[in-house]
Order: sequence, then C-alpha cells, then structure tokens
Amino acid sequence: TITVFGSVNVDVVAYADRLPRPGETVHGSGYAIGLGGKGANQAVAVARLGGAVELAGRTGVDTFGTLARERLAHFGVATTHLQASPDSPTGIAVIGVDARAENSITVIGGANMALDHTDVERIAPLLRKTRVLLLQLETPLAPAMEAAAMVRQAGGLVILDPAPAPRRGLPETVWRSVDLMTPNETETEALVGIRPADRDSALAAARAMVERGLSRAVVKMGAAGVVWREDEAEGFMPAFAVEAIDTVAAGDCFNGGLGHALAAGASLEEAVRVAAACGALATTRRGASDAAPTADEIQALVAR
Ligand code: ADP
Repeated sequence: TITVFGSVNVDVVAYADRLPRPGETVHGSGYAIGLGGKGANQAVAVARLGGAVELAGRTGVDTFGTLARERLAHFGVATTHLQASPDSPTGIAVIGVDARAENSITVIGGANMALDHTDVERIAPLLRKTRVLLLQLETPLAPAMEAAAMVRQAGGLVILDPAPAPRRGLPETVWRSVDLMTPNETETEALVGIRPADRDSALAAARAMVERGLSRAVVKMGAAGVVWREDEAEGFMPAFAVEAIDTVAAGDCFNGGLGHALAAGASLEEAVRVAAACGALATTRRGASDAAPTADEIQALVAR
C-alpha cells in the first residue's frame, strides 16, 4: 500500500478579471469547487495511475468534509483512515484567480492542523503495511515524523515533500527521519540556502541535502527540469515539453507519480521520469486533484 498522511482541503475558486483590493467588491465570471490539499492531491495522483492508496488524515463533521470524501472515493482513494472529527472544520482554501492567472489564496487549515499523536496510533496497522509513505508540510510535523519512524521500522520508504516552504528550515532530526525529499526552487533555498537555477546549482543543493542525512534527494525546477541524487549517482532530466496553463498541483502530481513508481520497484531515475511526466501533464489542466493524469496519458508522453 501507498499511504498519504496529510492534508485534505476543499478549494473554492473564484475567477474574475482582476482580484479585489481591500474593501472592494468585484464581479467574477465563474467559480469552481474542487478537492485540494497537498495530501489529497498526492493521493489522487497515485490513484489515477492505478495505485492502491490510502489517505490518512482528518476532516471536520461538515458539508465540505462530506464533499471531500465523495471526491476522494470518486478518484479511487481509500478513505477508511480519514477521520471526521467534530472539533475543527474541514480545511479549505479560498482562491481568487484573475485574467492573467495570477492568484491570491487564503488557506484555513482547520482539521488538518489538529492531526496529532492519536492519529498515528489510530493508523498504526496501516503504517506497518505501508510500502511508501507520502508526507508534506501542511499538517503538524511531529505526528508526521512519528508516522515516518513507524513505516521505516517496518521496512517502508518515506518521501517528504517539504511544501509549503518551511520559514525557518527543518529541525536537524527530520533529515535523518525520512529517506527522500523533493523540494522545488523556493523550498530548496529555504532548506539548504542554495537557489537552484540550473543543473549545477541544483545538483549542489541535492548533494547538500544528502549530506544532511537523506539517502536520496530530488530538486524540482518547474519547466527548467529536475535533478536527482542517490548514493554516488546523480542526474538531470529536462522537463517534458507541454502547453502549461495552470501549474497548481504540478508538484503534488510529481510526488504521487514518484511514490507510485518507487513502490512498484523502479529505480530513482526511472521514478523521476514518471514523476516529471505526471507534473508536466498536470500543468496542462486546471484545478488541483482534478489535474492528475492517468497511466495511459503518462505512457503516451514518456514514449514520445
Ligand atoms: P511545485 O509545483 O512544487 O512548485 P514545480 O513547479 O517544480 O513544483 O513542478 C513540479 C514538476 O512538474 C516539475 O518538476 C516538472 O516535472 C513539472 N512541471 C512544472 N511546470 C512545468 C512546465 N511548465 N512544463 C513541464 N513540466 C512542468
């Protein structure tokens, strides 16, 4: 099983020619309600590729919680370990998008921020049979690290997507508590102080990450490609050429693809290729979870 222990949000998106200024009301052209949250997005990305995936986390007991659950089930994500608890509301993101596709986002973490030690105990049997665990930083770090320890103890692999970028870097122990991290440019700079601008600077950052205690590192640079490092081996891969219209959740689809391929026994280099194809295809569609590509679509792109 692939397990995601992370966030689930409902995204409420309003489209308008321009974003309102403080105190102003603008009339928009339309809206969309979709499933988001980095945890949910990564889980959906795995499911769309045909992988068996569980999303462990929390929603509130409310309409958005029901909606999130319905969407996850629709995409084929198992929600047995997604708990509805009445203490906090389901997480939401309120997103404004203007005519130039610039956005402004307010996230209310809600139930995602309530994840704690009791959740790790609750999902312990699942963690013990998890081959790959996907983590992000939209939920509290302590329970995520506890879950990581449990998965590794049982021989599983732990991938941390350090997103959103941690303002003060990550505690030293985190580097030795996970196997692989997958930062984008901003996150890489926040973590190791190197701004990856090209192949060489990205490889330098990946090496710095491995020196801190990871066994593998991947640095995502959007349309500028991706680098990976594992033991003494490393490499660069250019991005797939696609017509990008909306980069929301590209990073999440990348991680879903990476986890799926590694769980199936691929080498890091092979897995990064699948992941890059997932990320690229996600940019050709609007929305978060709704942008995740299928295995057939990946096949077609990789074979091109
Ligand atoms: P994040 O979404 O976390 O900021 P990136 O922007 O680096 O991360 O996107 C994640 C991955 O999605 C990239 O590594 C790449 O594989 C793919 N991707 C993103 N933008 C593009 C693009 N314009 N063209 C092709 N692939 C892209």
